[in-house]
Amino acid sequence: MNHSLKPWNTFGIQRNAKQLVRAENIQQLLDVWRNATENGEPVLILGEGSNVLFLEDFAGTVIINRLMGIKVEERADSWHLHVGAGENWHQLVQFTLENGMAGLENLALIPGCAGSSPIQNIGAYGIELKHVCEYVDCVELATGDALRLTAAQCRFGYRDSIFKHEYQDRYVIVAIGLRLAKRWQPVLTYGDLTRLDPLTVTPREVFDAVCHMRMTKLPDPKVHGNAGSFFKNPVIGSKTAGKLLAQWPSAPHYPQADGSVKLAAGWLIDQCQLKGATQGGAAVHQQQALVLINQDQATSEDVVRLAHYVRQRVGEKFNVWLEPEVRFIGRTGEVNAVETIA
Ligand code: NAP
Repeated sequence: MNHSLKPWNTFGIQRNAKQLVRAENIQQLLDVWRNATENGEPVLILGEGSNVLFLEDFAGTVIINRLMGIKVEERADSWHLHVGAGENWHQLVQFTLENGMAGLENLALIPGCAGSSPIQNIGAYGIELKHVCEYVDCVELATGDALRLTAAQCRFGYRDSIFKHEYQDRYVIVAIGLRLAKRWQPVLTYGDLTRLDPLTVTPREVFDAVCHMRMTKLPDPKVHGNAGSFFKNPVIGSKTAGKLLAQWPSAPHYPQADGSVKLAAGWLIDQCQLKGATQGGAAVHQQQALVLINQDQATSEDVVRLAHYVRQRVGEKFNVWLEPEVRFIGRTGEVNAVETIA
């Protein structure tokens, strides 16, 4: 148990793993998986560890997915990219813009790897991965069989996909396919982007505005460890939303296509005066209440205690019970995050 996981989780939590291997090709990844499995040991495959909280030491092998490479194919009306799972997401966004391919600019500065992006269908400022994803290439770990899932088969939802359910343990994502239309349509519905002129704005200007918003509001994981939004934005039924809004008319709310209503978790937390609240070394970020940070050598127990406290306070005030977006990893694999903080 002497391989530190601290450099492998953006929360910067100190935990160890029994074994840690970087896999640079599929065969190597499969061999490591098979070895560990034959020894009865659990395996965890990580990209950049930007959405995990290690609750304990990991009693098996952590495989760092470093399958690299970007291939571009130009067609009459679109660009098609085939991207190795281990490519850094933000560098991919930069690469596309530098090469005149627009469409990913709203997703600038999202931490993590390309191969992790479909797992929770990453999204920001009105664009989600599902809008540009053509396919996800997987390999079945036990057999080595390759499989291509179309975007529809990935069952993308709000921060959700088949890779959090049926495909969670049996498959590894090895590459993703993206389609970027040449006819670019800026998405300017969020925050400062609404101030940009849709007729004259360039992809670079959108990219710069997104980077600026993120850098001013979100903590830099190199300074204060964090895993981005700690909680999901709650989506509630229209009746419940009606009652809540009668009591709290200023609550930001976004009606969804299916009639439900999305609330802003950050606003709910902020209304409980929790910005800056701490438990041990963990704190609620001052600029964005949705993010919990590792302020001062936080342990995972500190983070869990703080998450519990936030959930309780918000639940008591609004009767809305927040659920973590971050995935919790125990000794042998993922554990139920809601139960852990309840
Ligand atoms: P914000 O602008 O303060 O807004 C708060 C929440 O309200 C957002 O989470 C967003 O939901 C929702 N919202 C705002 N404007 C909206 C609109 N025009 N239509 C529909 N929903 C709207 O949010 P923020 O915290 O600065 O984040 C900005 C964007 O980056 C959001 O899309 C957020 O999801 C994304 N982000 C994600 C993470 C992560 O770790 N997952 C971390 C930071 C930021 P949605 O989240 O559904 O978009």
